[in-house]
Amino acid sequence: MDTTVAREKLSKRRAEILETAVIKTDSVSNKDERIDEIVPAQVESKLTQNRVNELRAIDRALKRIDSGTYGTCRGCGENIEEARLNAKLEAERCVGCEEKRESPIMAPAKRPQYQAFSGRSMLH
Ligand SMILES: [Zn+2]
Repeated sequence: MDTTVAREKLSKRRAEILETAVIKTDSVSNKDERIDEIVPAQVESKLTQNRVNELRAIDRALKRIDSGTYGTCRGCGENIEEARLNAKLEAERCVGCEEKRESPIMAPAKRPQYQAFSGRSMLH
């Protein structure tokens, strides 16, 4: 993944999200307000949680581009698949690590409460 291209796309996406927040809620009186002058907290309160999460993920991705760790999996430290980054520019983990994260039940060692409340012996 070319980080110059990634940065461009992420910045554009970020601006789009902020723009929808401003257009949706701001009154006529401050329509001339520039996006970058708006306090992030104010913008966040006007965005849905999904948008806020996306915005934060984009910000983290931009920071990773700056620090040179963009495209490196936070889970295993390997390079994130190119196809995955193309589909989700702000991806922080490779496919394998993301699957493990999204399915904690597949890793019972880390979630002992599932074993404690399985009740398997009671059912049979
Ligand atoms: Zn990984």
